[in-house]
Order: sequence, then C-alpha cells, then structure tokens
Amino acid sequence: MARFSGKVALVTGSSNGIGRATAIVLAKDGAKVTITGRNAQRLEETRQEILKAGVPEDHVLAVAVDLVSEEGQDKLINSTIEKFGRLDILVNNAGTAFVDSEGRVGIDQDVSDYDKVMRINMRSVVTLTQKAKEHLIKAKGEVVNVSSIAAGPQAQPEMTYYAMSKAALDQFTRSSAISFIQHGVRVNAVSPGCVTTGIGEAIGFPPGAFEKMASFWESHKECIPSGKVGQPVDIANVIAFLADRNLSSYIIGQSIVADGGSTLVMGMQAHDMMAILTS
Ligand code: NDP
Repeated sequence: MARFSGKVALVTGSSNGIGRATAIVLAKDGAKVTITGRNAQRLEETRQEILKAGVPEDHVLAVAVDLVSEEGQDKLINSTIEKFGRLDILVNNAGTAFVDSEGRVGIDQDVSDYDKVMRINMRSVVTLTQKAKEHLIKAKGEVVNVSSIAAGPQAQPEMTYYAMSKAALDQFTRSSAISFIQHGVRVNAVSPGCVTTGIGEAIGFPPGAFEKMASFWESHKECIPSGKVGQPVDIANVIAFLADRNLSSYIIGQSIVADGGSTLVMGMQAHDMMAILTS
C-alpha cells in the first residue's frame, strides 16, 4: 500500500516550484491532495502533472485563492473537508519576497514591503494553521512549514524582511510544535538553500536573473559546496519524509536544512588556510 494512502494533504503554493513538486510526490504516494495558488493556469498545470503520474482525478482538488485573504483560507479548508472529509497533512509552503520599486534593499526598503512579506510568509501561516487545527487534531496529523536558510543565524543585509519572516516562521514552528504535540499533531519544517523555481520572477527579478545568480553560486564552492543548485523535488522529498509518521515520528519542532552545504561554510573557510599560513 502507498505510504500516504487514506491521507489528505493540503499544500499551499502548489501552483509552482517546491509546492508543485510536493503535491506530486504526496499524490503519487497515495495522498489525496488539495492544490492551491492564485494563478489558475499554473494550478491547472500542476493538476495535469499529477494526473499524468497516474493519480485518479478524484484525488486532486484545485482551489485558486489568494492566501493573504482569510476568506480565501476559509474556502481552502472548507472545500478540502467537503471533498475529502478530513485533513491529515498541512504543508505551509507558499511564500515570496518583494523587490523595492526604487531599487532599495535591506532596511532601506520601504516598510510596505515588510508588511507584504510578513502577510504572506508569516501571518497567512498562522491563520491557516489555526483554521486547520481542529481537523489536524482529529486526524492526529502533521504540519510541515517551508522556511529558508535565510532565517539565519547568518545576516541577510539585502533580503532583510524576507529573512526576518523566515526567522519568525522558525520560532512559530518550534512553539506550535510544543502546543500541537499535546494533541498528537507534529509540526516540523524544512529550510531550503538555493532551489530553481519560479521564485526569481515572483520576487520581481528580471527573467533569467535568479538563474544567473544560481549558476554563479553553484560554480563557487564557498556558496554551494555540493556544486549543485537544488531542484524542487529535493525539497519535496524532505517534506514527504517529515509528513510520514512512520519515518520521522520522533522529530518534533525541527527545521531540516537542505542546502547542498551552503550554511556550513564560513567566509574564513572559503580561503585556503594553509596557503595563507605559508605565504
Ligand atoms: P515559487 O514562486 O515557484 O512558488 C511560490 C508559490 O507560492 C506559488 O505557487 C505561488 O502561487 C504561491 N503564492 C505566493 N504568494 C501567494 C499568495 N498571496 N496567495 C496564494 N499563493 C501564493 O517559489 P518556491 O517554490 O521557490 O517557494 C516555495 C517556498 O520555498 C517559499 O516559502 C519560499 O520562501 C521557500 N524557499 C525557496 C527557496 C528557493 O531558492 N527557491 C529557498 C528557500 C526557501 P501563485 O503565484 O499562483 O499565487
């Protein structure tokens, strides 16, 4: 029997990137999935990819909503329960960053961008999790949040508000994990490094710019020691592991880093110590 057979999963941000790959992995492994995003066309592409993998049509529910709106969130939860009757796995994946229209970065960036990034990356996670709570408790389910290595402990002087939103999300993961485990519900997270998705254009970078940065990073061992940018499925597999109680039941409130080694490198280690000592 497939490992998620009989389970129902709701994956936010599944009209693209990591969320799409996660919905495909979970559905292929037997889960019924609710997929969601604002872009109905991309959402349909996800649905088609899931069907192409041999998943029956009535195992997939596509709901196009803006997650920032609480009405949208209500629609998401209610339609999932209406169609599938339960909710076992909530993947809080939707997220993004915003570039400043005047090119300012870090703490010079307008505070309206701070509000926008917090609303989607953090506030929507809190309210959606609150709304899902009773269903997750009934199912003794799992929550997996998608954080980022940008959360720290290293500084992020350019994408400061984005990094702050993910640092807040990590604390939410820890704190909600302790509240929820009293009811038999596990909460964990994954912290990806650089992954090729639609995020560059969603942030507002020119087409190809994110890919240019990614290819610079993968060719510099002090940026990505493994020499490879991540693919969405690399993160989806970690999410599936954390959603699979048979494999990860003793992991509570943690964030698993999946970054090709990026966070293990300090600036000092990026240079040849012996060459410096002997020069
Ligand atoms: P993508 O841009 O490819 O996907 C983002 C998803 O979030 C899309 O499906 C998008 O749907 C959805 N989304 C964004 N805003 C909203 C909104 N207001 N309402 C509903 N859905 C929304 O990016 P990724 O797959 O890369 O990002 C997924 C997660 O991974 C994010 O939380 C991101 O911060 C995190 N992450 C990504 C990294 C990377 O290098 N790619 C690194 C570290 C973390 P739509 O546009 O249809 O609304």
